[in-house]
Amino acid sequence: MKWPERRLWSSAVIARVQPLTTTRRLSGLFDYLPPDAPVGVGSVVRVPFGRQKLEGVVVELAATSEVPAEKLVRAAGVREDSVPADLVQLALWMADEYCSTAARALSLVLPPPGRARTQLWAARTATELDGQRLTENQRALLERLPGPAGGDLGSLRRLETRGLVTIAPQARRRVPRTNAAADRSVELTPDQAAAVAAVREGGEHLLHGVTGSGKTEVYLRACAEALAAGRGVIVLVPEIALTPQTVARFQARFGDTVALLHSALSEGERYDEWRRLRSGEARIAVGPRSAVFAPVARLGLVVIDEEHDPSYKHEGDPRYDARHVAAERARRAGARLIAGSATPRPETAHGLRRVRLPERVGGGRGLPPVRVLDMRGANHPLHPETRRALGGARKAIVLLNRRGWSNFLTCRACGKAWECPNCDVALVLHRAERALACHHCGHREPVPQRCDRCGSLSVARHGAGTERVEAELGEALEVPVFRLDADTTATKDAVPRLLARFRAAPAGLLLGTQMVAKGLDFPDVTLGVVLDADATLRFPDFRAEERTFALIAQLAGRAGRGPRGGRVLVQTVAPDASAIAAAARHDADGFLHEELARRRALRYPPFADLIRVVCSAPQLAAAHAAAARVAGAVADTTGEPTELLGPAPLFRLRNRERFQVVLKTTERALAIRATGAAVEDAARHRALREVAFSVDVDPV
Ligand SMILES: [Zn+2]
Ligand SMILES: [Zn+2]
Repeated sequence: MKWPERRLWSSAVIARVQPLTTTRRLSGLFDYLPPDAPVGVGSVVRVPFGRQKLEGVVVELAATSEVPAEKLVRAAGVREDSVPADLVQLALWMADEYCSTAARALSLVLPPPGRARTQLWAARTATELDGQRLTENQRALLERLPGPAGGDLGSLRRLETRGLVTIAPQARRRVPRTNAAADRSVELTPDQAAAVAAVREGGEHLLHGVTGSGKTEVYLRACAEALAAGRGVIVLVPEIALTPQTVARFQARFGDTVALLHSALSEGERYDEWRRLRSGEARIAVGPRSAVFAPVARLGLVVIDEEHDPSYKHEGDPRYDARHVAAERARRAGARLIAGSATPRPETAHGLRRVRLPERVGGGRGLPPVRVLDMRGANHPLHPETRRALGGARKAIVLLNRRGWSNFLTCRACGKAWECPNCDVALVLHRAERALACHHCGHREPVPQRCDRCGSLSVARHGAGTERVEAELGEALEVPVFRLDADTTATKDAVPRLLARFRAAPAGLLLGTQMVAKGLDFPDVTLGVVLDADATLRFPDFRAEERTFALIAQLAGRAGRGPRGGRVLVQTVAPDASAIAAAARHDADGFLHEELARRRALRYPPFADLIRVVCSAPQLAAAHAAAARVAGAVADTTGEPTELLGPAPLFRLRNRERFQVVLKTTERALAIRATGAAVEDAARHRALREVAFSVDVDPV
């Protein structure tokens, strides 16, 4: 007699819903009567909201509401797929942690759009065929069952009426294309075995292993242990296209229990992969940062591969960091966490227990020797030694972190510099497109034939980007040059295709931006070159040293992986910079030690947290007033442990003037609350209605 009671209770229940509106001005949950279908926490419902109908997520169920019964509105419908309850809680935490809104954070954990694709599936029944009158064709048809009905549906229907066959719709999975390799079972080295044992003890670990030291095998073993314990796994990788080997090894080892989640999937593929995880059919989610929201139940392990990679930071609102969110999710689930890198971030090295893989596995080759080439006073982008080495190497990787032909143009007569009309930055020459382009807003204009200010025909081109170096190397060398940057890889499959061509080529040179330093594994590459190693050092950013070190060390890791060994050349005008010198010595510990001391002295992470608020508006005065108002409000509510920098001007971007306020704080939670309240207050202020606010907690 329990059933009617429960129905009575459930019909009286109130669904407390967060409507998915983009505005910052409305916050809080709204009460609705549930729709006719059953709902729970995480159900995605359609609700009347003002004059519109919006999607919303059920965040709580309540027995009563403060809204009078006659004013309660019924939700209009519910989606078939729901958000797991733990992800609803994680999203709410994220909304607070990143000074965003619950609606925006919940949008990140929603089931993807789409529906299952079905096909008619035919199978034999138990009825004996002996004594049945069947044609040859019918017998052949019955032989191939079970299988999709396809074009034989008519014939199968006739067999169905005779009771020989059943036909029913069945889900048909859309399988993402991958290059799964055969699994090679590997015996663990003593270092790897020690790492697996350390991870088994639980908690958070940094797997600090030099490039080529077999980190992936440690992930695979930890993953197998989690599965054996009935738990699920999330594996985060920087970019699927650049880390195909890692993905392929998970698929080779674990087969269909691996689901891939990334942006290059079709809508149908993404939907099916999400569903396979949600239903428990797949237990391992592999993907870039958004895979941290994969609907994996009973999470037992989170792996963050190449944890130093900047792509883990999301640049939309909420500006979450997948590494931070992954750690929070792992803590909530009681899961183990492994962050792996050859060049760990100082905060990871400082905060996590470290296990080491100090040596390369396999071929027995050590890390390649690195030579620093002083480019002070040089008037050609290539050092003579670099030219000689490139001429002698069959396969090489060259890193230049600058796209285009020339990075700025000036008039030799009057000094005019070509700048973006929307942003205060120089325009970059892209010769193949015959255009000047802004790398910030996408503005394009034709290449000037003469100066529009003084009429001079003499326009100087300064600096060399990947496009120009590609042309120069193509002329100087006998081998083909493959350029890998955002300009040559705009289409969906361009990266894997280009890398496959480079892999197959007997000789060649892979030239590109920081993309070439990410996890690629070509055993026959014997030379790595970094042109302009200090380009990243010149950024006015506390992470400049960290980035420079990681870029050089990672590129060095791409060279000399095979039996022939290799070497690395680093061109720089700052040969004494400690990040460059440490990378040349393969001295990650020395670098981390020095960098942590510097950060401690300057109160940078991990010794303080940073929060950045950017206020932008068409008018300078409004942007400044907003920043000043936020700074004033934060100063009023925080104490001495929070240091305020600014308001300071930033360069104009997309026709908007910008000011920023930066908080350096050791009272993280309080400072986040104060910032959130200050921004919410300023956003409601009438005089500031044209101002857009962007809050970045832990900017990178
Ligand atoms: Zn001029
Ligand atoms: Zn621009």
